[in-house]
Formats: sequence, structure tokens, C-alpha cells
Amino acid sequence: MKLASRFTSGKHLGNRIMLSFLLMASLVLGYFNLPAQAAANLQVHFIDVGQADSFLIQLPNGQNMVIDGGNNADGTTVVNYIKSKGITRLDYVVGTHPDEDHIGGLDTVINNFTVGKVYLPSRTSTTQTYTDLINAIKAKGLTATKAAAGVTILNTTADSKALTAVMVGPVKDTYSTNNNASAVIRLAYGSTSFLFSGDAELEAETDMVNSGRTLSANIYKAGHHGSRTSSSDAYLNKINPSVAVISCGAGNTYGHPHAETISKLQARGIKIYRTDLQGTIIFTTSGSGWVVNKSPWWQP
Ligand SMILES: [Zn+2]
Repeated sequence: MKLASRFTSGKHLGNRIMLSFLLMASLVLGYFNLPAQAAANLQVHFIDVGQADSFLIQLPNGQNMVIDGGNNADGTTVVNYIKSKGITRLDYVVGTHPDEDHIGGLDTVINNFTVGKVYLPSRTSTTQTYTDLINAIKAKGLTATKAAAGVTILNTTADSKALTAVMVGPVKDTYSTNNNASAVIRLAYGSTSFLFSGDAELEAETDMVNSGRTLSANIYKAGHHGSRTSSSDAYLNKINPSVAVISCGAGNTYGHPHAETISKLQARGIKIYRTDLQGTIIFTTSGSGWVVNKSPWWQP
């Protein structure tokens, strides 16, 4: 009896120690788990689609955005990339302007996901590529919302930090080229910001500078694949980026990115990433600072 009693109390003690251990372990695990669950990250994927643009943005509020869908031949690549992230719904889809290297794959993207809103600039096109896009939008029972300076895509908070996506271009409806009609989007989360410049060139850049809208951004998607016809000095002064990402194709016939643009960015001490030489570039930010999946192609 005495022995049994001792055995029992020993067992209780063992249980108590085990219970305390489990409690402590769960507290410790909880401590490390909680920040990971609460830390809402913004992730921006500059997808390697050769001589074209396509960007997937996983927003910290759980929503997803796509800016451009590469060329017609890139549709499946872009769809598979998005699916590989476990995404089934695209809350915002933006076709910056009607050129094939931006909207070519966008019809395939729209066909493959649940889509919230689609934004297109007022400038239209008579190409089959453009018709395919409009038909894909119609087939979803959607109509495109006009992309223009001043349009707010998103204005909310995530993890107690401001999360905004605002269009700063096109300032006018009357540009004579598709490039200048580009939707230009400033995305900001906490103190980290991005500017997606489409293929906007000098004329559109000048209008954005003169519009007085906030253009400042840490990370600048270089306009028009790093062409010398974009990234004008006044525009760069307003953006004042510390990082530039150039989306272009290896050995493209346009000579993008142009040496003048590279020199200009380097003279300003701006770190450069390039999809043609480095593949898909991914930025992750908790709203303060950022990490990149690659080392810069160039840095001061
Ligand atoms: Zn382009």
C-alpha cells in the first residue's frame, strides 16, 4: 500500500512535470508562432516573361493583384506561376496599356482565376490581342474600370499599417502613343513603396511630375523595359528610388535596357535588378524595409 501510494504520487509528480513542460513548450511555441502568423507580408513578384511585363502582388490583407500578363505566348507561364502560389482569386487585374507585351497573356490569366476588378486605360486597340482581352473580361461578366491618374485601387490597413495602391498615370486620355497611355501604379505598405511605371515615356512622365501627385517610391519598376525614352531626370527626381527593377528579355532586338538608362541609374546610386539576367525577382516586405530573393545585378 505504502509502496503503491509512493508509486502513485511519483506518477502524479511525473504528470505534473510533463504538464508543466507541455504548457511551457506551447507558450514558447506560441510566442514564436504568433509573430509569424501576425506578420502580414507584401510580396511583389517581377515574373520573368522575357521582353514583356508581368507582376504578381500578394497583398498583406490576403488579396492578390496582377499588373500585366506578358506576351500572348506567356499566358500559361504566368497562370502556372500564380497557381504555384496557391492563388485562386485575383482581386485586381491591371492591363497597363494595349501593347501585346503587357496584355498578351492577360486573357489567359483572366480565364483561369476568379477575378474581382479589371482596370484598363481608356486607350483602345484594334488588334486581335486586345479583342481577346475584352472578350475574356466580358466572358467573366465583368466590365473594365478606367485606369487613370487619381484612381484608388486600394486604401486600407494590414497589420495596423497603411496599405494603398493608387494610380498616378495616365494623367491624360489623349496621348498619341500606347506607351504614354500606360497605367502607372504607386503601391505602398507601411514605409515601403513601389512604383510600376508601365511603358510610360517622357511626355507621360512629365505630366505625372507636373501633376503634383506623390511619386516617391523605394522600388521603381523602370519604365518601358529600361528604354532611354523613359526614366527622365525630373521623373527620377520625384521617385527618388533606391532600387530599380528592369523587366526585359535577354538579347531583345530593342537593345533594352539602354546603356544610357543603366548609367543614369548608376550615377544616382540606385541598385539594379534585371529579369533578363536574373530571372524572376521577388521582393518581400513587412511594411518596413524589404528582402529580395536575388543579389542586385548592380549596386553602388
Ligand atoms: Zn512594353
